[in-house]
Amino acid sequence: MTTNHDIQVSVLGLGAMGSTLAAALVRAGYATTVWNRSAHKASDLVAHGATLAGTAGDAVRAGQLVIVCLLDHASVHDVLDPLADELAGRTLINVTTMSPAQAREVAAWAADAGVGYLSGGIMAVPAMIGRPGSAILYSGSAAVFDQHKPLLELWGTSTYFGADPGLAPLYDLALLAGMYVMFAGFMHGAAMVAPAGVTAGEFAAMAAPWLAAMTGGFQGFATVIDGGDYTVDGQQSLEFSDLGDILTASSDQGISTEVVAMVQRLIHRQVDAGHGKDGFARIMESIKGS
Ligand code: NDP
Repeated sequence: MTTNHDIQVSVLGLGAMGSTLAAALVRAGYATTVWNRSAHKASDLVAHGATLAGTAGDAVRAGQLVIVCLLDHASVHDVLDPLADELAGRTLINVTTMSPAQAREVAAWAADAGVGYLSGGIMAVPAMIGRPGSAILYSGSAAVFDQHKPLLELWGTSTYFGADPGLAPLYDLALLAGMYVMFAGFMHGAAMVAPAGVTAGEFAAMAAPWLAAMTGGFQGFATVIDGGDYTVDGQQSLEFSDLGDILTASSDQGISTEVVAMVQRLIHRQVDAGHGKDGFARIMESIKGS
């Protein structure tokens, strides 16, 4: 297993996230070389002991392990494509957010270039890196993950999802999908109570513990979905789950109904198909498109 003192690490990309990841490595005592298109962003890191590379090629040549945290898939190719020869025989960990297909494409490019490759999906904002609650999802080379786990754990809890380099990005985007729909639900609720003089802050104080408690239902839904039988006893039925009252109250408050109407449509597609007595988890079938 690798220790702090026997590996040279290079970080390409020193935006808000890349500079935070690099700072954690410098703090932990890794010999860290950094590069950014706009070099001034390296100043703090250099002041704390990082070495600034003049070019991305210099950074790659300085590191056995190369970490890439750029804006997107296109910027990763912009930076790495000219460096395939320099990267050969090295290890690449790409924590740039991209689609699963894009991550698989970069992994295939890396394999062609003779580069060990791991995809990462960062489930944290920079202020969370290295603190409780920071989780980073990985897939791709198991050997790369196992060898560098102590380094990866500096950033957050590291979970490996298997050899498919697209799986970590898929998990990443699936978790973000859940988050954004939940955020929209919170904001819909805040908009409902606003005309009654309730501030968003007052609503947030009620909504946060309520929604946190409701996440306790995920495993019950999952058991039904994985079991493939939406008729099992003890579930709230789709008929009972009709959101008509919420839609009416939203209209009465003078706000858009589209957030709640989206869920109502998922419910009604199943009710209209004759599944009204089945449990709420059956909206999974609407989402899957069946
Ligand atoms: P920033 O916008 O702060 O930084 C983007 C970085 O990409 C900069 O270093 C920028 O260089 C570089 N860049 C963009 N285009 C090019 C290019 N064509 N050639 C060379 N360099 C380029 O983004 P973040 O650091 O916040 O995010 C980096 C990655 O981390 C993204 O994929 C993001 O989705 C992911 N991430 C970020 C989170 C966050 O909360 N910030 C959370 C989870 C994931 P320059 O400085 O010269 O512009």
